[in-house]
Amino acid sequence: MDPRTALREAEMSSARALPELAVSIELFPPRSAEAEARFWPEMARLAAAEPAFFSITCGAGGTAREGTFPLALALKARFGRPVAAHLTCAGHSRAEVDALAEAYWQAGIRHLVALRGDPPKGEGRYRPRPDGYAYAAELVAGLRRVADFEISVAGYPETHPEAPSPAFDLENVKRKVDAGAVRVLGQYCFDTEAILRYRDALWRIGVRVPFVPGIMPIRSFPQIRRFSAACGAGIPAWLAELFRDVPPKAPEHAMIAAWVAAEQCRRLVAEGFRALHIYALNRADLTLALLRLLGRPVPVAAPVDASN
Ligand SMILES: Cc1cc2nc3c(=O)[nH]c(=O)nc-3n(C[C@H](O)[C@H](O)[C@H](O)COP(=O)(O)OP(=O)(O)OC[C@H]3O[C@@H](n4cnc5c(N)ncnc54)[C@H](O)[C@@H]3O)c2cc1C
Repeated sequence: MDPRTALREAEMSSARALPELAVSIELFPPRSAEAEARFWPEMARLAAAEPAFFSITCGAGGTAREGTFPLALALKARFGRPVAAHLTCAGHSRAEVDALAEAYWQAGIRHLVALRGDPPKGEGRYRPRPDGYAYAAELVAGLRRVADFEISVAGYPETHPEAPSPAFDLENVKRKVDAGAVRVLGQYCFDTEAILRYRDALWRIGVRVPFVPGIMPIRSFPQIRRFSAACGAGIPAWLAELFRDVPPKAPEHAMIAAWVAAEQCRRLVAEGFRALHIYALNRADLTLALLRLLGRPVPVAAPVDASN
């Protein structure tokens, strides 16, 4: 075998060795009847990829908080995949949060992603409610008192924008884990080196639960630029250059996005990560392409309505 063929064989077999990767997929409740009609066929395609779990946001980006509960139940009932419901405490009393947690437990949803959440737009700085859980660490402790939930929490490789310092923010993750969280789901981050440094820093301060990097396949670069400005995720110059003058609806945009996400994931897997959290933004195509590129033979069929 000539060296180039041997190298390709080795690369392909390393790709084939990846199916044990645990992939969780984050979704948000659809915001309109039209979005809902598109949502279920997309979910069927994602469910066929057998994600480790679906996670459903709660009030993120202005979506209605009420949508999470029924959607979590519907997803679980339709596809039988594990579901994690995000639960935020900002703006709610402890009693309200505990009642919702109790309802999840009764309904058979046993995995929660415990988050502080953000104040509503225009309210400025976050101020804890006197009768509420002030921060996610307190929320985790509260949820553990409600029932024996599996609890995931958020971590920020580029530091949460409101944190007094990176060291404080790291210690905050430790507090959430000490309170009972069993997994840290990463904010998306395009700087893979920052993810690796963060993983090592968590380990150094004694966090012994898995840190699962967040991966954002880029559906629309202008939209991601806006998101990133709001949530404190950086846009590296090389990434901006890759997407410069590429309209989001051009097929090339999706091709570049799949390549970017796959390169990042392959590096992370090479560095030892065995779980990834994908921000699918309610669409299947980029996530399925990414999983294929990672060597997972997930089913890929034409979408029900290819014009969408
Ligand atoms: C994986 C993931 C999923 C998400 N899902 C949602 C969602 O569904 N809905 C939604 O609205 N948002 C969601 N978010 C965004 C999240 O709610 C915001 O980033 C929010 O601002 C912080 O939430 P947290 O749980 O990380 O907060 P916390 O862990 O409470 O931290 C918030 C900030 O406060 C600081 N802090 C912590 N404790 C203290 C203290 N005692 N005193 C002073 N400062 C303190 C921390 O360092 C940090 O800067 C998600 C984020 C991630 C990464």
